[in-house]
Amino acid sequence: MQFLNTFNAELVIESPGRINLIGEHTDYNMGYVLPTAIEKKIIFEFQKNGSEKECNVYSKGFDVGFQLDLGNLSKSNIEWENYILGVLNEISKRTDKVEGFNCTIQSNLPAGSGLSSSAALECGLAFGLNELFQLGLSKMDMVQLSQTAEHTYAGTQCGIMDQFASVMSEAGQVILLDCRSLERKMIPIHLDPYKLILLNTKVSHNLATSEYNVRKQECEEGVATIKQYFPEIASLRDVSMDMLQHCEPYLSETVHRRCAFIIAENKRVLAVAEALESNDLSKVGTLLYEAHEGISSQYEVSCPESDFLVAIAKTDAKVLGARQTGGGFGGCTLNIVHEEAVTTFVEKATKEYKEKFDIDLEAFEVRPSTGTKVASLEVQ
Ligand code: ADP
Ligand code: MG
Repeated sequence: MQFLNTFNAELVIESPGRINLIGEHTDYNMGYVLPTAIEKKIIFEFQKNGSEKECNVYSKGFDVGFQLDLGNLSKSNIEWENYILGVLNEISKRTDKVEGFNCTIQSNLPAGSGLSSSAALECGLAFGLNELFQLGLSKMDMVQLSQTAEHTYAGTQCGIMDQFASVMSEAGQVILLDCRSLERKMIPIHLDPYKLILLNTKVSHNLATSEYNVRKQECEEGVATIKQYFPEIASLRDVSMDMLQHCEPYLSETVHRRCAFIIAENKRVLAVAEALESNDLSKVGTLLYEAHEGISSQYEVSCPESDFLVAIAKTDAKVLGARQTGGGFGGCTLNIVHEEAVTTFVEKATKEYKEKFDIDLEAFEVRPSTGTKVASLEVQ
């Protein structure tokens, strides 16, 4: 695949990662989320190669590549290839306009860190092929086909949030997304003098995919039981705490806790959106801490490393709030930190994290950024 390092790109696509300010695991429960794209991204370079069906895809960061045949898009045993194959498979159900292409991928978005490199990969590929071959797909088509690719080829039963945020975000705003109606409201976010700081735990526990799917099943189990008493509900989005309380005797203790988290988390998303609109960042911070508590003890998708970093944040009065962001079991914590305190906070967290886990913490600022886009060839 050496030649792929040298080809002249016809098209360059930037596909960003995302943070979710709040609303974890609410997307597949048809609730609310509050994500935005960040500057860290995957960059794709594309070129038609003149063949009918042969495609070459090379990941510079991973230093691996593979060749595929558009006539045979069956699943691979190699994880990352499935994101590519899954997207091509979904596109092939919609159009036969794709022909042979070469594509290289480079990324400054850490993979498996809760910043949704998987959605960036899927959506960037879909966006690029749509441009290159004029497929006529809408942004929403690309979001949805990428989500389906993640279900069918990568095996994660994810909601719509990651792909939606990667494609639809706008600079300086977060998206209040209703995952049932797909209605969105763009909310400007005024952080000054605070900053959004990510601390990357650098752990990505293997549980992420399997437990994600288990959580989804537990929520479905909850819905099935609650529906027997309240037939009008279609998802946890429709369930109130009173309804849940009524059904408590019929639910396992675990399923009850999962449902309680989702119901509370949906409320928190709306409360954070309101607090952002009234510029009440300290309220936002309090809700982030509350959310982490739920993520850790009710939904049980945190891990000792994330809990440790959130606990450090809590000891610092200049940090308004913190929580693990992303599907769980590691990845990054998101912290709202006063600009004057960023250095001391990061130094303290880095030192204590190293002492406790012997891992070098990675810290970086993120800003709400634009979604997937065509980049100018000159800047590459
Ligand atoms: P997240 O989406 O939070 O980053 P996932 O486990 O959902 O975590 O997706 C990470 C996977 O996406 C990686 O294991 C890899 O298969 C794929 N991936 C991410 N970035 C790249 C890249 N630059 N090149 C190839 N594959 C990548
Ligand atoms: Mg992912």
